[in-house]
Amino acid sequence: GQREMAEEHGGRRWRLVLTASPLQGHMTPMLHLATFLHSKGFSITIAHSELNRPDPSNHPGLTFLPLHDNISATLDFANAIQFLQTLNDNCRPHFQEHLVQIINAQKDSSDKETIVIIYDNLMYFAGTVAGDLGLPSIVLRTSGSSIFPAIKIIPQLHQEGRFPVQDCMLQEIVTELDPLRYKDLPFYGLPIKQTLETINMIMPKTPPSAYLWNTLEFLEPSALTQIRDHYQVPVFTVGPLHKIIPTPSSTSFLEEDTSCISWLDKQAPKSVLYVSLGSIANMDEKVSTEMAWGLANSNQPFLWVVRPGSVKGFEWIEFLPEGLVSEMKARGLIVKWAPQKEVLAHSAVGGFWSHCGWNSTLESMFEGVPMLCQPFDLDQKVTTRYLSYVWKMGVEIVVERGEIEGAIRRVLVGKEGEEMKQRAMEIQEKVKDAISHGGSSQNSLKKLVEFILSL
Ligand code: UDP
Repeated sequence: GQREMAEEHGGRRWRLVLTASPLQGHMTPMLHLATFLHSKGFSITIAHSELNRPDPSNHPGLTFLPLHDNISATLDFANAIQFLQTLNDNCRPHFQEHLVQIINAQKDSSDKETIVIIYDNLMYFAGTVAGDLGLPSIVLRTSGSSIFPAIKIIPQLHQEGRFPVQDCMLQEIVTELDPLRYKDLPFYGLPIKQTLETINMIMPKTPPSAYLWNTLEFLEPSALTQIRDHYQVPVFTVGPLHKIIPTPSSTSFLEEDTSCISWLDKQAPKSVLYVSLGSIANMDEKVSTEMAWGLANSNQPFLWVVRPGSVKGFEWIEFLPEGLVSEMKARGLIVKWAPQKEVLAHSAVGGFWSHCGWNSTLESMFEGVPMLCQPFDLDQKVTTRYLSYVWKMGVEIVVERGEIEGAIRRVLVGKEGEEMKQRAMEIQEKVKDAISHGGSSQNSLKKLVEFILSL
């Protein structure tokens, strides 16, 4: 605990201020990291926005600092740049004030704590404040690392006339990013000015002392080498964060429908397709209707998460074609939000149809579940390429009912699916090795603790 740590270090104590982003896929890994660091004896404050605030009663021992974000709940997530800017501008003053107060109070006290800021890269204001106050900072990246070279090269591609991508180039390999194709690059369809602004916005202005990446050394060695060459500070690979320490309480913003677990209990082993496209992706009616037909025609049992409001123009599943509802109910279950990690760990689940968000990808790897990949944007397309072409535990799907039906069969009952399952299980073994004693992520976490103690 904290007392032992102070005794060991001549009375010195540390307070880590973890600044979390309000996105589900960012908040969860930050809370896991917080729980881990707390178990090592550090005092922890979680600074967070009022939007999507975590529930302190789920995390005894951690201190929570809600920042006044003044963000109206109606702010459009789809306009990511405006959202990020407003969030960062609004949270900054309160965050700075809070830190100045702590620093001033310590000046007159014998009871001093070394303050270290650990921040999600989307909450870049925390890095700026740390720089202004002369505090050390560490960045947490909750995505995979292969997106880094793909983003870094975009300004250069733009100068050379290779970005925005011309349609005739989409299937070609970007030589510098092999095996990524032009179609795998992020920001497809966004005006170039906004793309460059976004890239500039999320690059830290004050260089942090270190980076934490929620990935594993064996998965993305080439990107990690490039990242280390670029930043020239320690880069700790600490993934998968959801498995480094048991955190019994849920970190979900939405209520998990646990009835699906008893439904899964009644299904045959490895027969069910789990379908979820994460916490942000929104779809057109046409896309969701094709998904529904593909699922129905595949004749496989399925568990489908349709997040309320995720299909444009509908509250929930009113988009389902009338003739299909009873047919779908006979073979599947549709829920609003699922306990995903538990679902993926269930023996009845044989495949995961996913948008390939990074957390979903790590969760699927950890359970050895092969994937059907339907990426939307950002790192999801890069991850899809790696899942299908490099790690070979996923197939990229085309969202058309016939194609979907075929892909589902191939993964759940075909020979291709068996090979993918085999690969997924090999990867699962390597992930388990990495987080067990002496493994790469365990070692990285150990070095991280030593690094913080040296600040
Ligand atoms: N998730 C969940 N229940 C669901 C769907 C998703 O608990 O019904 C969780 C999932 O386990 C993952 C997170 O939400 O931890 C989604 O993060 P990811 O990075 O995969 O995608 P994002 O939501 O950021 O696009």
